[in-house]
Amino acid sequence: MPVHKRLYNEAIIRLIISPDGPILIKAGEKGADPTLPDMEFVRTYHDGRWTVYLPGSSLKGVLRAHCERIARTVGGEQLACDPLDPRKSCSAKLKQKAQNGAEAYRQSCFICQLFGNTSLASHLRLTDGYPLGEVKTEERNGVAIDRVFGSVAVGPFNYEVCTEGEFQITIHVKNFTIAQLGLLALVLRDLEAGRIGVGFAKSRGLGRVKAKLDSLVVRYPTSQRQGNAISLIGTKREVGQNDQILGIGCFLSDEERQDYGCTVSDWAPLPQGIGYEENEWGELELALDAPEAIKAVFRNCVSQWREVAKP
Ligand SMILES: [Zn+2]
Repeated sequence: MPVHKRLYNEAIIRLIISPDGPILIKAGEKGADPTLPDMEFVRTYHDGRWTVYLPGSSLKGVLRAHCERIARTVGGEQLACDPLDPRKSCSAKLKQKAQNGAEAYRQSCFICQLFGNTSLASHLRLTDGYPLGEVKTEERNGVAIDRVFGSVAVGPFNYEVCTEGEFQITIHVKNFTIAQLGLLALVLRDLEAGRIGVGFAKSRGLGRVKAKLDSLVVRYPTSQRQGNAISLIGTKREVGQNDQILGIGCFLSDEERQDYGCTVSDWAPLPQGIGYEENEWGELELALDAPEAIKAVFRNCVSQWREVAKP
């Protein structure tokens, strides 16, 4: 059975994102209601009411772009293709000949391995971000248009921004490598530090957000623990220890590792005092909600990313 049809590990990261100033994620099409602003914030029906929200697809694009920026800075095109390049993107190169899943994975750049391309499914999924409580939206116009949009503005138009509120989003990563988690950790650090903008007119001062880590769950649905050893249910093959966080490389056979280009040392030590428990389904799970503990786990994953990024 191909590796991507199995589930070895899974990380579920929950974040709270709030605007730090005005943000605007535009609705796709202008609605028919003439009383609404020309550029209104995207809305959805959730929990019995219409509400502004942060679409997961839009946030995923933001995370991918920042991952690419970091990866390209340290490793050039080897680590991050330009997904829009019609000749040199992984999608374009892989399209030229039929690939099996392992080949498509191995021949994709580091970023495509995590976020996917036209030949490879994404390992990362984001939920839409719904507000936890009240949100504040405002309509802007007049002088602010010139300041924000500069000479791009054609005629007077209104736009709607969200200025207050807390949006909860969840990132699911399955069959991850520790290096992937390490790069993601750096991106979440930058998001938390306010270095990543979201939505419309980022270069003109809109889109500043604050983020905080809410919880992290790491799960191995097909593994069990005996003493300190973690093994695959069924094969009894030991894949790691209770004080390690395990990437997909730990779970594969030698042959599969070669096919997928994974390393056997795909693990990082867990910070002291942090280990796995069995959840109510009997699955091996690490569940953290203290931001400092989550960051400590993430920090330990970054060295694997540095290994990958080494020239
Ligand atoms: Zn790529």
